[in-house]
Amino acid sequence: MAEKIIIETSKKTQLNITSVYDWSGKNKKPIIISGPCSAENESQVLATAHAIANIDPSIIFRAGIWKPRTRPNSFEGVGIEGLGWLQKVKEETGMKITTEVANAKHVEECLKHGIDILWIGARTTVSPFAVQEIADVLKGVDIPVMIKNPVNPDLQLWIGAIERIQQAGINKIVAIHRGFHTFSKSPFRNDPNWQIAVELKLMFPALPMICDPSHICGSTELIPYIAQKALDMELDGLMIETHILPEIAKSDPKQQLTPSQLEELLSKLVVREPISQSKKFIDSLTELRSNINKIDDEILHLLMTRMQIAKEIGKYKKKNNVTILQAARWEELLKDRISRGQMMGLNEDTVKKIYHIIHEEAVRIQTEIMNS
Ligand code: PEP
Ligand code: MN
Repeated sequence: MAEKIIIETSKKTQLNITSVYDWSGKNKKPIIISGPCSAENESQVLATAHAIANIDPSIIFRAGIWKPRTRPNSFEGVGIEGLGWLQKVKEETGMKITTEVANAKHVEECLKHGIDILWIGARTTVSPFAVQEIADVLKGVDIPVMIKNPVNPDLQLWIGAIERIQQAGINKIVAIHRGFHTFSKSPFRNDPNWQIAVELKLMFPALPMICDPSHICGSTELIPYIAQKALDMELDGLMIETHILPEIAKSDPKQQLTPSQLEELLSKLVVREPISQSKKFIDSLTELRSNINKIDDEILHLLMTRMQIAKEIGKYKKKNNVTILQAARWEELLKDRISRGQMMGLNEDTVKKIYHIIHEEAVRIQTEIMNS
């Protein structure tokens, strides 16, 4: 069954946000944040940081000090001691440093230790109490805060966390898209669910957004694909986990890149312009879009006709006292449409989702008829 995500119609809302290009140390796309999932010991942190700084010192260095682990008794981070290692990274490489905070104490310690940027993790964004506690302690402080999406596909929770931090007076805010938990079969650890990120961008056009391909993918193979896709979706940058020796990492070993893999990935990324000024480009785009408009018109007409027929069938079923759902017919129809779609080169999952929506609407129409 296709997963249901309810997204409100977008409406632009005001958020007083300072551009990420004004404070991150980099004035153009893509902003890159990289470093290990967790700070494990001083030499691991420094070796990873130097290798990353050698690639590009404008990369912002990340490392988790307090780790929100799903199950207890796994590595829960080194705690305050690690903040000293991050300070050393800053002194020795000049890179800005960032770590995850989940409560007021974490924020206070970060402020004492010169952490440049804070981030709120996906397991914290789900909790308005925790986010409010962080917001309260940030009142009167000028520090950038990055807010990951909540674990579950709930746009309102993400917006709520952003608003709480903004209402504390923080204007340097970045949203981080790190994918969403899903019960459906997926090649990803966390489903990208791009439409939620796009909806947030449409609502808050000034809000910078960064993608975290590491936590979306859960393993290294798909990272280049998601990283490029994020830039093609007009996101501002990437947070990518890198470890000097990923195979012995104490958390997320499968998804961390080596510094040389990071370097290769960054060298292959293509930063595209949102629009080209070339007349030839604009003319072909206009023509292609006008074709799309015509096809959409036909799709809508066909849908209308299909629903009218579903209504007729509904009336006929009512007259003959027959149930709405005909499971065998529906199963057969879906199988047939998927295989025909595949023959036409359409994606199986997409065809399935479309037919679930069409069928749901036909059932709704027939239910109305039955109850009339
Ligand atoms: C992390 O960045 O290491 C992390 C715990 O991420 P998330 O909150 O996205 O799970
Ligand atoms: Mn991690």
